[in-house]
Amino acid sequence: PRRILSGIQASGALHLGNYLGALKRFVALQDEAPLFVFVADLHAITVWQDPAVLTAQTREIAAAYIASGLDPDKAVIFPQSAVPQHAELAWVFNCVARLGWLDRMTQFKEKSGKHKERASVGLYTYPVLQAADILLYKATEVPVGEDQKQHLELTRDIAAKFNTDFGRPGYFPLPEPVIQGPATRVMSLRDGAAKMSKSDPSDQSRINLTDDADAIVAKVRKAKTDPEPLPETVEGLDGRPEAKNLVAIYAALSDSTAAEVIARFGGQGFGAFKPALAELAVEALAPVTAEMRRLMADPAEIDRALAKGAEQARAIAEVTVAEVKDIVGFWRAP
Ligand code: ATP
Ligand code: MG
Repeated sequence: PRRILSGIQASGALHLGNYLGALKRFVALQDEAPLFVFVADLHAITVWQDPAVLTAQTREIAAAYIASGLDPDKAVIFPQSAVPQHAELAWVFNCVARLGWLDRMTQFKEKSGKHKERASVGLYTYPVLQAADILLYKATEVPVGEDQKQHLELTRDIAAKFNTDFGRPGYFPLPEPVIQGPATRVMSLRDGAAKMSKSDPSDQSRINLTDDADAIVAKVRKAKTDPEPLPETVEGLDGRPEAKNLVAIYAALSDSTAAEVIARFGGQGFGAFKPALAELAVEALAPVTAEMRRLMADPAEIDRALAKGAEQARAIAEVTVAEVKDIVGFWRAP
């Protein structure tokens, strides 16, 4: 049976990339199959998080899930740390995954920077925890942005090795990454070579879901571009990463294609295109932002949804971990 799972880290302000690459996609899936979406707080602390801020960010992400259209009566929405089996299964997977596999992970290389000896051990084993998040629920599909492709491959490797090592073919399903849509990799507004990220220190690099209209207009106006007008064809965007990114954002926000955007704006300068893009972004995000504000003003509704989701998630997670303990051969009271 199909089971869909994904998560977002409680590591900072949600942005347009998270919205287009993840949130918006989840909403489309909630009627198709059981959907599990969690707030990845265990993942967030792989880099330093101020404890009070972490709690607020956890609620903010839950608010964003609901505000973008997820129904807590359909989707199971929960904080990762409220289901202790994530960490428990991750330990077993730490003993299945090979150092060589983790050494290849590009996200660790990017996030640890020049001084990898100063990175947390958790940042290194992050993809192993991610495998546990997914396989704990025996998820078959994982909707994510392009940046998570490599981690999903590692999850499949871990599932396959576990199944083989313990002689249980098919015990863990090999989950499919679902990387679809016009905006699977939204780039930074300041650097066409870097992904838009919560953890980017520059607030100018991203449009936050909590930005007001003035902030969005100002950020789009200052977004980095080249001096040429927009090309007359989509191919003309090749080698122009900043222009390509803004066109992709416009396409995703208007549910159209890059070709349609070029058909309308090709030949025009950014002086004309940027205000149109800003207006579209404000229009698309305003209802989500307003609903997030309403939810966060009194977190009782969010907390109820998270508590309920955690209970539903635990019920499934307990079964998997009990099975895994038996498979691995851990002692159990007779
Ligand atoms: P951090 O910088 O802390 O890693 P992030 O912005 O990368 O934060 P995550 O919580 O790591 O966000 O990712 C949540 C989801 O959003 C994942 O599915 C990820 O692939 C997707 N995502 C993140 N950034 C982008 C982006 N720029 N474009 C499209 N999807 C994205
Ligand atoms: Mg990330």
